[in-house]
Amino acid sequence: MKLLFIGPPGAGKGTQAQRVAERLGIAHISTGDMFRAQVAAGTELGRRVEAIMKAGDYVPDEVTVAMLGERIAEPDAAEGFILDGFPRTLGQVEALDRLLGSDGLDRVVVLDVPEDELVRRLLSRGRADDTEETVRNRLAVYREQTEPLIELYARRGIVVHVDGVGEIDEITERLLRAIDARAAAE
Ligand code: AMP
Repeated sequence: MKLLFIGPPGAGKGTQAQRVAERLGIAHISTGDMFRAQVAAGTELGRRVEAIMKAGDYVPDEVTVAMLGERIAEPDAAEGFILDGFPRTLGQVEALDRLLGSDGLDRVVVLDVPEDELVRRLLSRGRADDTEETVRNRLAVYREQTEPLIELYARRGIVVHVDGVGEIDEITERLLRAIDARAAAE
């Protein structure tokens, strides 16, 4: 099963993608985690993306696409995966279509959380790239560049929306049900 999780920053997408991937026994592929690992290891790529991430901007497509392309070529991804945080731009969608084919994703799961709840969560989790200005910028960049992807995938008939407000365990169950329900309907 090849899934994409989309949601605004603060929706709990990373946490849930990891939990759902574990339950389904497929790879969890997070470009944000991969970039953070590069920054932590002090690699050339890490140095290149550090300031961009701090500002809440997107890393250029060519950098992100090259990294993701290598990752999904790894053996564990052959069994299926959850893409968490990629694609985030129209250019990345085109790149993913080239990698997987335009019918390569089984479904796109959108985690919905209201804006005021997002800001509250982002400011309370205290990650290095979560200052108030950065939070505002990350939300604006998401609305502008990533939200339009939902409509694009909806036209392909593979989008499911899941309410991202509630207890962590409850949301994981909702996600698993939403994914199953779609599978059953096909
Ligand atoms: P995330 O953990 O998914 O919120 O990602 C953290 C940061 O990594 C983002 O704010 C971006 O700066 C960068 N990043 C992660 N994935 C992408 C992507 N697909 N395209 C561009 N930048 C990304």
